[in-house]
Formats: sequence, C-alpha cells, structure tokens
Amino acid sequence: MRDVVPFSPPAEVDFDAGTRPYWEALREGALSIQRCAHCHAFRTPPSRYCPHCRSTEDEWPRLSGRARLYTYTIVALDRRDAEGPVYVAGLACPEEAPDTKVFCNIVDCTLDQIVIDMPLELVATEAGTDAARFRPAPATAQGGR
Ligand SMILES: [Zn+2]
Repeated sequence: MRDVVPFSPPAEVDFDAGTRPYWEALREGALSIQRCAHCHAFRTPPSRYCPHCRSTEDEWPRLSGRARLYTYTIVALDRRDAEGPVYVAGLACPEEAPDTKVFCNIVDCTLDQIVIDMPLELVATEAGTDAARFRPAPATAQGGR
C-alpha cells in the first residue's frame, strides 16, 4: 500500500484573466469551468470563442464538485525509492459536464484505491494550489453509474 501525497503548492502564480474564475472558485472550495452563455456547451481549457457556435459570451457556473476519473498517471517523488510517496495527476470529468476533462490531483487515498471511472469529490484547497484536488467519493453519491 503506497501513500499518495498532494502536489506541493507553487509560489506566487499570476493567473491570466481567461482562467481567473476557475482559480478563484478553487480557492473558495468550489469547481467552476467555462460554459458558453449562448449554446451552454462547457469547454476546457477555456477559450475566447465557443468552438460550437463561435459566441464570445461565457459564464462560469459553480459545479457540484462531483466527477469521474477519466485517466491518471503516477509520479514518484524519488524514483530510487520503490516504496516512497507518489503523487497522482489525472483528468476528471465533472458530473455536470461529462464530456470535458479537468486536470487534477488525486489525494486522501492510497495508490491501490485509484481506478479508472471511480467517483471523485472535490477537496477544498488552500490558496496557491496548482490543480483541482479530488478524493475518492462514495459510489452511492452518484447513483452507481
Ligand atoms: Zn456556444
């Protein structure tokens, strides 16, 4: 059983205006991704124009924070230590926007608990974190899809 640790938070990061709502929501313990205000298609990464209808109008709704794990990779902090801590970077599909993917960090679990399509829930993150953090969620939270 190998421990999973979070990414270390970066030093000051100057997020640009195009992604600021995402980072501000994370710092408030919420997940928010860009959605077209005209056709309501979610889009990640954020873009100036909607690829579906070319509208420049957007909105940033707050989502539930529930998601599914689409894929992940394991990064050893010390590759010489086969039993040492690792962190897990992944892509999560938010419940409200299952066709989009959000870069994330999986935390609060051991490596053997992580499986593709597992239900996840957002973890409140401190200011300065560098990715949305998710942890395993009870399977019943999403109706056992
Ligand atoms: Zn659109």
